[in-house]
Amino acid sequence: MIIKPRIKGFICTTSHPDGCARDVQQQIDYVTAHGVIEGGPKRVLVIGASGGYGLASRITAAFGGGASTIGVFFERPSVKKRTASPGWYKTAAFTEKATEEGYYTRNINGDAFSDEVKQATIELIRQDLGQIDMVIYSVAAPARALSDGSVVRSTLKPIGEPYDGNTIDFKSGQLRSVSLEPASQEEIADTVKVMGGEDWELWIKALLEAKVMAQGCITTNYTYLGSEVTWPIYYHGTIGKAKEDLDRACAALQGPMGEVGGAAHVVVMKGLLTQAASAIPGMAVYLSLLFKAMKQAGTHEGCIEQTTRLFSTQLFSSNGLRLDDENRIRMDDLELTPEIQAYVKENWTSVTNETLDVLTDFEGYRQAFLEMHGFGFDGVDYEAEVEPVKELDLVFGS
Ligand code: NAD
Repeated sequence: MIIKPRIKGFICTTSHPDGCARDVQQQIDYVTAHGVIEGGPKRVLVIGASGGYGLASRITAAFGGGASTIGVFFERPSVKKRTASPGWYKTAAFTEKATEEGYYTRNINGDAFSDEVKQATIELIRQDLGQIDMVIYSVAAPARALSDGSVVRSTLKPIGEPYDGNTIDFKSGQLRSVSLEPASQEEIADTVKVMGGEDWELWIKALLEAKVMAQGCITTNYTYLGSEVTWPIYYHGTIGKAKEDLDRACAALQGPMGEVGGAAHVVVMKGLLTQAASAIPGMAVYLSLLFKAMKQAGTHEGCIEQTTRLFSTQLFSSNGLRLDDENRIRMDDLELTPEIQAYVKENWTSVTNETLDVLTDFEGYRQAFLEMHGFGFDGVDYEAEVEPVKELDLVFGS
């Protein structure tokens, strides 16, 4: 079948297996070109391992530190004429490459919130690795099924006041205004339930109880603070409340992690286009401005640059951690420099359909969106017939 991007709003319903493999290869090439990460963890569990920051963390751990990795994710295989989700193809490509290099790689496809997946993961660790040295929690989910069978959903809404902003339509490249009413108390609580720290704590509790965390094991969870211009919808909105809850969970985890001489860290990453980020109202304008400013300054980074820098200069470096007042590791240092933020703020209200291509890097943003789904890569023949079914070896799930 010939696979082309099919875009509706901020969603692309198709993905290209060869382009996804190319994306993974480029990330592997980046990591290997940056040399070995000395003192990195040797057995790593990544929860949310198939896209964005989780996939990049897994690639950094395996190809930078030679780690054995177990990946947990929620992805869709190709069925009939429908392509698989990008994370399926990317994990298949990662598994092939890591296995070729001799790195132990196992995959679990299922709902990370469920006890079933937690227990299957623990069984796998016991059986194959004995214990693990690092747990990276990088799940971004729209909903969470609770143990009583009910489902709670996260919402991306402001709190207290309505939000009026702009988003950019990927297809037409035109700005579209977005207005959102403030979230209800229930919507705030539900978003915290889905994207807050509770499930991270449940994972760590289960792993500790099963005694599968090695002495000195560390765990990380990724957060975002961003620029003042996005605070009304992000940091001060429902998702910001969930991220605040990560700080609470992180503090609560220090005691339990201390039992194995380990630690928990919340890491502030930079704003990037990932599957999760593309759904946030207003982020398209912000990220397009940010890409322009950071590319001009030569400081633009993608997921793999961020995770590799996190491992080599923070988590596994002898130089000490760059922490803020809340004990979070800051990887958004280059995003938040005064020069970059001045450019964003100066131009925030001047972005119109006429100025979009001059003031922002919407073209780069659109390219990143296509690449996320395996499209727009040089060297991939998008006119050629391609087999959409890609085998992925799974220890659990289908
Ligand atoms: P992403 O959409 O690229 O990846 C999300 C991952 O979660 C995928 O592997 C997906 O399969 C998995 N997942 C979703 N629901 C699941 C479920 N029920 N069970 C198991 N796995 C599930 O997202 P991302 O942007 O890489 O986000 C990862 C983390 O990084 C989030 O906490 C996010 O808030 C944070 N973060 C993102 C940005 C950004 O700009 N993208 C910036 C800073 C921090």
